[in-house]
Amino acid sequence: MNQNWHGTLIRHLLLLITGCLLVGLISGQYGWSLAVGIGLYLGWTLKQLLRLHEWLRQHKPDEAPPDGYGLWGEVFDSIYHLQRRDQRVRGRLQAVIDRVQESTAALKDAVIMLDSDGNLEWWNRAAETLLGLKTPQDSGQPVTNLVRHPRFKEYFEQENYEEALEIPSPTNDRVRIQLYLTRYGNNEHLMLVRDVTRIHQLEQMRKDFVANVSHELRTPLTVICGYLETLLDNVDEINPRWSRALQQMQQQGSRMQTLLNDLLLLAKLEATDYPSDNHPVAVQSLLQTIKNDAQALSGQRGQQITLEADPSVLLKGSEGELRSAFSNLVFNAVKYTPDKGNIRIRWWADAQGAHLSVQDSGIGIDAKHLPRLTERFYRVDSSRNSNTGGTGLGLAIVKHVLLRHRARLEISSVLGHGSTFTCHFPPPQVTRSRMVVNDE
Ligand code: ADP
Repeated sequence: MNQNWHGTLIRHLLLLITGCLLVGLISGQYGWSLAVGIGLYLGWTLKQLLRLHEWLRQHKPDEAPPDGYGLWGEVFDSIYHLQRRDQRVRGRLQAVIDRVQESTAALKDAVIMLDSDGNLEWWNRAAETLLGLKTPQDSGQPVTNLVRHPRFKEYFEQENYEEALEIPSPTNDRVRIQLYLTRYGNNEHLMLVRDVTRIHQLEQMRKDFVANVSHELRTPLTVICGYLETLLDNVDEINPRWSRALQQMQQQGSRMQTLLNDLLLLAKLEATDYPSDNHPVAVQSLLQTIKNDAQALSGQRGQQITLEADPSVLLKGSEGELRSAFSNLVFNAVKYTPDKGNIRIRWWADAQGAHLSVQDSGIGIDAKHLPRLTERFYRVDSSRNSNTGGTGLGLAIVKHVLLRHRARLEISSVLGHGSTFTCHFPPPQVTRSRMVVNDE
């Protein structure tokens, strides 16, 4: 087709020049007739160009192009067809977008699209109910201005979105929502929000049940243990056959008391929202008292317990919770390390934050148990546990306390050679003692 128009155009030009030359031959003015001929042709071309411009500027979507002669007519038609094709493609695309929007609008879960700075770009209807977003006023607003929970801000600013975040809904405190963030495209964020109130209520019922049962059992158990103690104090007056039985009953009774105390502590940790207290805790002196208690627990077993702690490094958090977590780690090391073994406690800070490590030369743990070790009542070897009097809740408590202090637990162990439990606290949780800073 291009080829054809090429030839036609050349033919037309040759015809024009021949016509002009003929007029020149008749009039004797070759130069003038050629100039007038070319001028007329140029004028006609410009007129067609103006018609095209006018049509493009004013035409309605379905309006046909103006009639054109020759190549100009072809140009008008081609532009018209291109526009029609473009309209059809746009129509199809719009239909797809409408369908996607309709289906996401029907979702019970909220879907929110955010730009790379966290400003709202698009959301579905469920987002209005779950997060209280308003269309169109909130468009372009930073999401952290609309979801104001402190844990959300922290979650949004961190780089790692592997785990979901659960918080109360900004529109209704009784509704519990779970948020998932994912990055896509050019560092934009996709946020999915689910209503998990029902699951949360069931979980709450389970926690309340455990807490209530533990609490109710505590009083009768205290009475039983008290009477057992009185009976054992007067052991001479009772039948010697009962003495061993009473001793065992007292042993098991105090084991049950420890178990209930651990269960109640776990229930308390779960019941309160974190972050917990944010007072600077002097970890070094805390570790010193734990070391003394561990020494007493170790007794005559000849274990070597050492403490290396930087006194200038303080930790923001709850002293009571940290004491429970750290003492669990240290007492475990004592329990699971044979006589004359070594236990090394270290507390230090670096660019990654502050770290507490408890290293022992004990029996170690097989690698296959490590991922499940912090589960409640998980036992590496149940027979081993009954000897040590463990409850199986110690490491679950450690995990919870660390979670509440934004820290993580790292466990490395070699069976038969010993274990190292390290708690890693992020830099925002760490603070330096002013006294030591002044000394520097
Ligand atoms: P327990 O009260 O039974 O010690 P924990 O939750 O503290 O419960 O520990 C879970 C299990 O992990 C223990 O039963 C024990 O088998 C193992 N464990 C914990 N600490 C150590 C350690 N330092 N060395 C070897 N095994 C350990």
